[in-house]
Amino acid sequence: MSATVPRIAIIGGGYAGMAAAVTLAEAGVPPTVFEAAPLLGGRARRVEHRGAALDNGLHILSGAYADILDLIRRVASPDPLGPLLWRRSFDWILQPDFRLRRGPLPGAAGLALGMLAARGARLGERLAALRFGAAVDRIAPDPDVTVAMLLARHRQGATLRHRFWEPLCLAALNTPAEQASGRTFVRVLQATLRGPAGSSDILLPRVDLSALFPEPAARHVLQRGGAIRTAASVSEIRRQQGQFLLRTAKQAELFSHVICAVAPGALPLLTRRLPELAPLPERLAHWRFQPIYSVYLQYPEHATLPQPMTGFAEGWGQWVFDRGAIAGQRGLIGVVVSGPGDHQGTPLESLADRAEAQLRAHFPGLGKPLWRKVIAEKRATFSCVPGLQRPPQTTPVENFFLAGDYTHPEYPATLEGAAQSGIRSARLALASL
Ligand SMILES: Cc1cc2nc3c(=O)[nH]c(=O)nc-3n(C[C@H](O)[C@H](O)[C@H](O)COP(=O)(O)OP(=O)(O)OC[C@H]3O[C@@H](n4cnc5c(N)ncnc54)[C@H](O)[C@@H]3O)c2cc1C
Repeated sequence: MSATVPRIAIIGGGYAGMAAAVTLAEAGVPPTVFEAAPLLGGRARRVEHRGAALDNGLHILSGAYADILDLIRRVASPDPLGPLLWRRSFDWILQPDFRLRRGPLPGAAGLALGMLAARGARLGERLAALRFGAAVDRIAPDPDVTVAMLLARHRQGATLRHRFWEPLCLAALNTPAEQASGRTFVRVLQATLRGPAGSSDILLPRVDLSALFPEPAARHVLQRGGAIRTAASVSEIRRQQGQFLLRTAKQAELFSHVICAVAPGALPLLTRRLPELAPLPERLAHWRFQPIYSVYLQYPEHATLPQPMTGFAEGWGQWVFDRGAIAGQRGLIGVVVSGPGDHQGTPLESLADRAEAQLRAHFPGLGKPLWRKVIAEKRATFSCVPGLQRPPQTTPVENFFLAGDYTHPEYPATLEGAAQSGIRSARLALASL
């Protein structure tokens, strides 16, 4: 490396890129972040609509998200559980008749007690689920199999499959159980069941997703001498005198190191002048992606739901959130649909009709919405299928690293996976200085 003073560029201001930026800035090597969009957050960002701060998709965090929670504490609030995140102990409510609520015991025993007392499934099924939960540490499907096969192997009954395991798989991996990786699912269960106290808690943002982490992270980085360039799409990366020349519409700059924290779809363009990296986009071209649709319905301010978060066993919408109860956005209800379905070819207005009809059927007191907004993220996450080979964060190009949810070796596409990948890429860059 020819530069004496390291200059690190991070391409992508999503959760991975901003986690890398915070890690570098705190280590005394303030980076320059390039983000193509006008605001930070990537696939977890604010969308403004009619004066309301919505998100491109309603996100759920878990108490097991140790690294992103730690980052939020460092950049935004030492005690984010209150001002920034609404927290409740695991409580799985699926309309019309299923509920699994964590029992009053510490650790995995609390969930076991909850499963034993779950409403809406026969005792035999609950006992089979308990056996599966107790064995989860010892399960490591090799070769990897689908979640559906894993559940069959562990004799999970039909009711619990439909009311609990399959929706849990879809919520956690954004991939249907018939296609999803059993190994990744087990990894998620291990983190939730065996992690420290609170790992199974459900956390919902009280602020929009850009304000939750990427924006305070940017302030943190700026205070430590870094630079944040938004609306700055990197169009080309070239090697020049042992460094990397990054070109945007406005300028070209040299950097000693690059952390490329973009989603897989953006890699071919960015790596086309780095022939050693050609196999990477070719390999990722075979990956499949899954959509997530969010429907926001603004009802009159007095409208509320019986629970801040409720699931539906039947019908189109899978989860419904009362943003008034969670975030003070009174009367705002969000409906989420993860994974594939006929909605992918349906006009957005018809999807808003579907969500409204479903809410009316379950909660007739809501009344008529004042406005509705559908946000379709067609490539929300990679399909988390068995045997997916994640690319390592080091690359054949010296001082060029990858970050992003898809580079995490074992997690599904999540905020936590993105954050951990960002931290690791920054540590690799620091180690190479
Ligand atoms: C609708 C939806 C719902 C979700 N729900 C959940 C959930 O409930 N819980 C959960 O944990 N996870 C959820 N996820 C997944 C989570 O949002 C992602 O895993 C995470 O945000 C990925 O972060 P990332 O930084 O790896 O990638 P991204 O967020 O994609 O960031 C990449 C960034 O790179 C930028 N970029 C691309 N090309 C360039 C370029 N040439 N120059 C400069 N910048 C560039 C992009 O604009 C983008 O900001 C959801 C995702 C979606 C879309």
